[in-house]
Amino acid sequence: MSKVENFLSAKEEKEIVQAIKEAERNTSGEIRVHIEKTTKLSHYLRVQEVFQSLDMYKTSERNGVLFYVAVEDRKFVVYGDKGINKVVHPNFWNATKESVQENFKQGNFKQGIIDGVLKAGEELKNYFPRKIDDVDELSNEISKA
Ligand code: CA
Ligand code: CA
Repeated sequence: MSKVENFLSAKEEKEIVQAIKEAERNTSGEIRVHIEKTTKLSHYLRVQEVFQSLDMYKTSERNGVLFYVAVEDRKFVVYGDKGINKVVHPNFWNATKESVQENFKQGNFKQGIIDGVLKAGEELKNYFPRKIDDVDELSNEISKA
């Protein structure tokens, strides 16, 4: 799994986009997935850089969530905006991370991302329930570098 293009098939990408839509049916939180080959930065800094470059801070409740995958580095990070960090407990993302990592260990990348996205939606709905007039503030398409 060294190339971004080979990481997920077109069909798998569609399934992930579907999972994002499904997760966002429960919460006003906005979830995105970014996949790239590698980075020279620390992954924690890089996820914040990508978050900025995708304008993910442009949500009314500051509740965007980025799933970041560096394929060659075999690294995954989930990063939530400050509106989330203000209200959740520090271990908030643990269940989401576990959903991803268990699958990744077995090479099930698509399923890892899908399970993680759905889990994030479940967890977010307790703090950011979806409102009737919800707007899809951030694209559900996968971002690739
Ligand atoms: Ca929304
Ligand atoms: Ca969205």
